Amino acid sequence: MSQFSKDTICVQGGYTPGNGEPRQIPIVQSTTFKYATGDAMGALFDLKASGYFYSRLQNPTCDTVAKKICELEGGTAAMLTSSGQAASFYSIFNIASCGDHIVSSATIYGGTFNLFAVTMKRMGIEFTFVSPDATEEELNAAFRPNTKAVFGETIANPALTVLDIEKFARVAHAHGVPLIVDNTFATPVNCRPFEWGADIVTHSTTKYMDGHGAAVGGCIVDSGKFNWLAYPDKFPGLCTPDESYHGVTYAKDFGLEGAFITKATAQLMRDFGSVQSPQSAFLLNMGLESLHVRMARHCANAQAVAEFLQGHEKISWVVYPGLKNDKNHELAQKYLPNGSCGVISFGVKGGREAAGRLMEGLKIAAIETHVADARSCCLHPASTTHRQMSDEELLAAGVSADLIRLSCGLEGTNDLIADLAQALENL
Ligand SMILES: *Cc1c(COP(=O)(O)O)cnc(C)c1O
Repeated sequence: MSQFSKDTICVQGGYTPGNGEPRQIPIVQSTTFKYATGDAMGALFDLKASGYFYSRLQNPTCDTVAKKICELEGGTAAMLTSSGQAASFYSIFNIASCGDHIVSSATIYGGTFNLFAVTMKRMGIEFTFVSPDATEEELNAAFRPNTKAVFGETIANPALTVLDIEKFARVAHAHGVPLIVDNTFATPVNCRPFEWGADIVTHSTTKYMDGHGAAVGGCIVDSGKFNWLAYPDKFPGLCTPDESYHGVTYAKDFGLEGAFITKATAQLMRDFGSVQSPQSAFLLNMGLESLHVRMARHCANAQAVAEFLQGHEKISWVVYPGLKNDKNHELAQKYLPNGSCGVISFGVKGGREAAGRLMEGLKIAAIETHVADARSCCLHPASTTHRQMSDEELLAAGVSADLIRLSCGLEGTNDLIADLAQALENL
């Protein structure tokens, strides 16, 4: 499929049925798979042969959908996970252990920040958070001898900063570590981080890829380009024998193109079991079939809404990379020339109280803890997710009291604008 455009891969990637086989991808709703001899199955357990034996490790439906996402990103191997959180965790834990260190952009999804700064810290992995605007000198200063990776989001949720992927990749590679990029908000339709030097890409497929608010899921894709074998001391898990698989050495036995995902599947899925169900993978694939069509509309709606809000007297500020005067517009033009995403953040004059009333006045966008859905939705952190915080505490957390995050869905552009106009009128 890789000879085709992203549009065609969205629709048909990952699966080419043979004569008389189903046109739609089959849902293999089976935990286990049958073998004639114990030896045949034993070869699978030793990673000497490839095949299915238990759906905690691999399932044909999930693999089909992972293959489509792999083709979309231009990678060499991919795996689905139960959620975006599992994808972020695996992507780091596959190459870092207790005593290791990671450099991460500070503007990342709140759930990922908590995973890194609290939960993985308890596992003995330390994170240094750097500004996405950091200079190369500032980035260099964040590294330690035990640094194992650099992490960032193409478009940060909810800060909407755009990662300078080339700069982050250059610095990571100078220190002999991979750059991991969470590409959830851009999707491969709007940006392929591998083309700019990223080594591993993660996704919360819950967002635009599913696109209909139907199934939680995640994905990890490997570019196959990072040369683990050049740094055997840094990445012993990939470069030395795994005794739990009779001495397999992932980077040698599966090549650079397969090592990362094979190890994450064989060790992390085996032990943590954050699998996506075949049913969810089927729903995800339905979303992927229209991803290229939907992303264009999400972006067009967000652009029109952002421009409308920017010109409105009751709005104090608007952040959207597609706006010409946005701080990230130049980076967006480089990395996201066809559009960024459907999410906007903005502030209402009148602060916390006015923001709450504006949202309640909207008839189309529902108040939800979600983004990237076909249906528009909005969230006012100060009165929901962060409601226990004072205005001062909110500012320290980088969330102003008047901030509303609006995820523009696929509804009519004029309807979305008219709805905001009437709710602002009534303030
Ligand atoms: C939602 C989100 C996640 C977490 O994904 P879940 O599927 O909710 O676990 C990770 N990264 C980004 C950028 C997200 O928006």
